[in-house]
Amino acid sequence: MLTLLRDLRRLRRDLALPRSDRPRSLAIRHVDAGSCNGCEHELTLASGPHYDLQRYGLGIVASPRHADILLVTGTVTTRMREPLLTAYHAMPEPRKVAALGNCALGRNVIGTAANLAGPVSAILPVDLFIPGCPPAPDQIARALLSLIDGSLPAG
Ligand code: SF4
Repeated sequence: MLTLLRDLRRLRRDLALPRSDRPRSLAIRHVDAGSCNGCEHELTLASGPHYDLQRYGLGIVASPRHADILLVTGTVTTRMREPLLTAYHAMPEPRKVAALGNCALGRNVIGTAANLAGPVSAILPVDLFIPGCPPAPDQIARALLSLIDGSLPAG
């Protein structure tokens, strides 16, 4: 038995592929911070069978504790500011934040009002900006995949 385990360990070491600094898969926690649901609709399509983000290693998870990326839609409302911060601080390091849609980017599609806390970048450090109202599913897929292949688009 011990010999078998030793052989397996040796085989695994011999077959080891060179390690890459880039992740091969990323878990996404989505938070709707005050959107009209248009961005969610496109996100659902992006993760559906046609674009199938999971095939490329991008999966949406239910808990921020399992997430690498916090994906935020909508202009952040004052009521969603604290839950958004709570979700961010529950994520393990290293964590990234992506703002999805013009509202999340602060392009004032919905406008400004006393009950809006502002764009995502006013609350959290944003690594990836995905513009559009709403962005098309292929835009969303391409932008999120850039987090894996390292070709981050400009904000
Ligand atoms: S960017 Fe457009 S689709 Fe997305 S939440 Fe704002 S108004 Fe809705």
